[in-house]
Amino acid sequence: MNTETPSLPERGDFIRGIVAADLREGRHQTIVTRFPPEPNGYLHIGHAQSICLNFGIAREFGGRCHLRFDDTNPTKEEQEYVDAIEGDVRWLGFDWGKHLYHASDYFEQLYGWAVDLIKAGKAYVDDLTADEIREYRGTLTEPGRNSPWRERSVEESLDLLERMRAGEFPDGARVLRARIDMAAGNVHLRDPVLYRILHAEHPRTGGEWCVYPTYDFAHGQSDAIEGITHSICTLEFKDHQPLYDWLIDNLPVPSRPRQYEFARLNLTHTVLSKRVLLRVVNEGYVRGWDDPRMPTLSGLRRRGFPAEGIRDFVAMAGVARADKVLEVEMLEHAVRNVLNRTAPRRFAVLDPLKVVVENYPRGQVEEMEVPNNPEDPSAGSRRVPFTRELWIERDDFMEEPPRKFFRLAPGREVRLRAAYFVTCREIVKDAAGRVVELRCTYDPATRGGDASDGRRPKATLHWVSAAHAVPAEVRLYDYLFRSPYPGADGHDLFEDLNPDSETVLQGCVVEPSLAGLPAGETVQFERLGYFCPDPDSAPGALAFNRTLTLKDTWAKLRAQGRHDTA
Ligand code: ATP
Ligand code: MG
Repeated sequence: MNTETPSLPERGDFIRGIVAADLREGRHQTIVTRFPPEPNGYLHIGHAQSICLNFGIAREFGGRCHLRFDDTNPTKEEQEYVDAIEGDVRWLGFDWGKHLYHASDYFEQLYGWAVDLIKAGKAYVDDLTADEIREYRGTLTEPGRNSPWRERSVEESLDLLERMRAGEFPDGARVLRARIDMAAGNVHLRDPVLYRILHAEHPRTGGEWCVYPTYDFAHGQSDAIEGITHSICTLEFKDHQPLYDWLIDNLPVPSRPRQYEFARLNLTHTVLSKRVLLRVVNEGYVRGWDDPRMPTLSGLRRRGFPAEGIRDFVAMAGVARADKVLEVEMLEHAVRNVLNRTAPRRFAVLDPLKVVVENYPRGQVEEMEVPNNPEDPSAGSRRVPFTRELWIERDDFMEEPPRKFFRLAPGREVRLRAAYFVTCREIVKDAAGRVVELRCTYDPATRGGDASDGRRPKATLHWVSAAHAVPAEVRLYDYLFRSPYPGADGHDLFEDLNPDSETVLQGCVVEPSLAGLPAGETVQFERLGYFCPDPDSAPGALAFNRTLTLKDTWAKLRAQGRHDTA
């Protein structure tokens, strides 16, 4: 578990401004926030922003943050999601301590408050169907109409609610509604539904309940029970705020939380709707919720993104008041920044071409000392075996090199990194004319990669000793959605799925030290990119995921002034 604090200072956003002022002006002694996921899917990069904001504020202002499962819809919620969510929040570097809660912990209390509302004439049982309720609700420009059941007596509503709870009625037969104002300008105040009948097993309360509170009825009251001071949510709840406040004002709740809204995080080439992600998984477009192409935290982790890079990205993104779409390259940039500093360098050849060093003694093995990170001497070095037969990258050789190709070619000398200079003497081809082997010679005076006469080849190649090479599968990843704005203009966003989002390479070779690398540890394959072993990887059947290439396109976008930051 990673419990480091974010490595970039958080920007003083408007929510932190509100929190700081509330403390300064004595409106609160202690700040209490919460992260309230519904366990109906895996957490994604958008949730990471909410997690960093809620837990971050609690940490920075000496308060606390609760993890609360918003489990009011048993038909869509599963224990698998609960477990994944807890694991992901911890992985991201945050801890709720003993403050783990569930909206379902409060079902009895919420029901009691529903009864209080009826008794106060502020709620009634309605027999309209869901469609009728929608029809009676009116529109943004037209007021709604009162339900014919709106004036039913307190006694009758109390009796019906009790019988709803007792299981006398089928799903959808009746609901409990607040009695507010069917002509209110805000449609959420037009007698919102507080309870519905749902004969469904709940992962926590089992068969105890067949009426469940709606989000609106559960959320603010759960906040009040837990003493949440700042209930921070995304903009789609802004219109719910008057209802949030109405319920707090009209119920004997133990504290007075306030809701604040910020803009959802969106990324190009990415869809962050759980409904869509569930379809992507269920229809088999990916290997699962944690597929390396998924924007889920478990997918990004499997892909090799460090938690620190995600936290840095969230800090860079800031907290906005209005919706916008950030470039996914910005996330990649933040991750590269971390990996460039922390990922050890290793040798791997994805498309191997054999090199035979003719004048190197047969059977000899030299352990070459190779630095683990040229940017960080404290990362030390490792020994990599060098022998007479090596693998190099096929595209590091050209028989007829164009003007700007400086790598290996007939008669040309290059440096093999941390080893020797070699010169290509002869090309061996198969019957089809394909190059299958290069016969080279080496200069023994260049051991370690430097010549005493000061000559410097224009190219340095990575390599793997053929006798020591470990075979591996390597999976290259590209965006799951080809289009930067999937489904823009209302077309089916599944048409934007990238058919080439995964390319599996067989027959790659890696240096021996990579055989034992644990899943999720990201290294740099020199000159190729960042890679990590997939959880599928096993001794004798290594599999690596490409986390990212080395090229930082965000820096370029920024230079062109095309970026979009908070
Ligand atoms: P759904 O896709 O089912 O509407 P959701 O993505 O809103 O769900 P929740 O489990 O309700 O998921 O979200 C938990 C918290 O995370 C909420 O407070 C929500 O506002 C926040 N959140 C969700 N998506 C984003 C996002 N893209 N950016 C920032 N915060 C988000
Ligand atoms: Mg939601």
